[in-house]
Amino acid sequence: MSVQEHDLVVIGAGPGGYVAAIRAAQLGMNVACVEREARLGGTCLRIGCIPSKALLESSEKYAEARKGFPRHGIKLGGEVGLDLAAMMKRKDDVVLALTKGVEGLFRKNNVTRVVGHGRLAGPGRVVVEGPDGTVELAAKNVVLAPGSVSAPLRGVEIDGKTVVTSTEALSFDAVPGHLAVIGAGAIGLELGTVWRRLGAKVTVLEYFDRIVPGLDLEIAVEALKIFKRQGLEFRLGARVLAARADGDGAVVEAEGAEPLRCDKVLVAVGRMPATKDLGLETVGIATDGKGRIEIDEKFRTNAAGVYAIGDAVRGVMLAHKAEEEAVACVEGIAGQFGHVDYDAIPAIVYTDPEIASVGKTEEDLKAAGVEYKVGAFPFIANGRARAIGATDGKAKILADARTDRILGVHIVGARAGDLIAEAATAMAFKASAEDVARACHAHPTLSEVVKEAALGVAGRSIHI
Ligand code: NAD
Repeated sequence: MSVQEHDLVVIGAGPGGYVAAIRAAQLGMNVACVEREARLGGTCLRIGCIPSKALLESSEKYAEARKGFPRHGIKLGGEVGLDLAAMMKRKDDVVLALTKGVEGLFRKNNVTRVVGHGRLAGPGRVVVEGPDGTVELAAKNVVLAPGSVSAPLRGVEIDGKTVVTSTEALSFDAVPGHLAVIGAGAIGLELGTVWRRLGAKVTVLEYFDRIVPGLDLEIAVEALKIFKRQGLEFRLGARVLAARADGDGAVVEAEGAEPLRCDKVLVAVGRMPATKDLGLETVGIATDGKGRIEIDEKFRTNAAGVYAIGDAVRGVMLAHKAEEEAVACVEGIAGQFGHVDYDAIPAIVYTDPEIASVGKTEEDLKAAGVEYKVGAFPFIANGRARAIGATDGKAKILADARTDRILGVHIVGARAGDLIAEAATAMAFKASAEDVARACHAHPTLSEVVKEAALGVAGRSIHI
């Protein structure tokens, strides 16, 4: 078997892996990126963030055309119809264009793409089993970016047709009459939103007595109120013990509740690192109790020359966190100073309205004994929110009581996912609430909600 020599081999071409490969190539390294899927981009591009956002957009337009237009004085000639196949094709086209975009970036940067399953085979060695046989790669450095897979749930038999993961729920060929969603996290709420808008009855079963565990509680409570008003049903405090296909539908059993009969079940109870079958044992790499690869602050594993980033290591499982780590990791390999500010990583749930947050929650600050001030502002008091008819929600800023430094920003409301960028940037610059409050925000824009919340930290919001 011939051996291909490279400066760096990256395993995985998701947002972590492909960004690591491109950045390393920019820094002058001869890079190979190993990916077993036919398409580049990983879970995020192929079966995650991107297709779900395409469907969220389409379903929002459909719901708006059905129920929202009359409010704006717009009359449609006839009944608004749904061509689900066309909607799915559009989603697939969006994914295809973006995965081809990554292929183009690899070509532009001279990254060698190796198709197949890569695993470590001793120090500086990666063996790839692909459709055209086995290839051996040799490199001084290897970056592991294998991503994550849907976590299974004991007692739940996923058959990919009736009881499904997010992958299949992105491609149903008909709108289910009644969809049960297990887990009120990002995936459950986003895909629940898609299918509710397209006409399904949606029941979300969640183990905790709240939605989106980890999100600031006040914002989670506000979001729950809004979602319920929209017709999403919730069974909170419901630990699902079993779910299975049954007859022409499915049945879900949860602790202390009547069994729920439905047409399809989406299991969205988290993801776990895809660290099996990577040959970690060949170089003695350790994983923790959750199967994550242990790394130091420079993304180094305990094996010389092997690094790991993204969903497979500690921290939040978010594409943009993986991208930041990718850049910092390979800049470190190149002798530069790469850095990730883990206190300023935004998180967004693309529901209707969106939920976005960055930094500490009130619960975090209380637990840490940090004294803080709160400024909050409702969307209903914002002129643009009124004009676009998106008055649900609020923004909330938490600032250090002594220094006024922003410690956390939490928003539920229209375009929260875009608004949070200002907060993340402000936090990256260690801004105070007053810094944001004194910055001029264009009128009329939703961004004024953030400014007013910042003013509110000092008790001087103007419009409330
Ligand atoms: P999650 O961890 O965000 O939520 C899973 C939910 O399932 C939790 O609320 C948990 O309490 C609940 N749960 C677990 N076991 C249960 C049981 N037996 N019965 C009832 N409920 C149960 O996981 P997810 O939504 O599957 O997302 C997976 C990962 O992907 C997360 O890390 C998430 O951040 C990431 N993701 C992010 C986005 C985004 O940022 N927009 C979108 C999709 C996925």
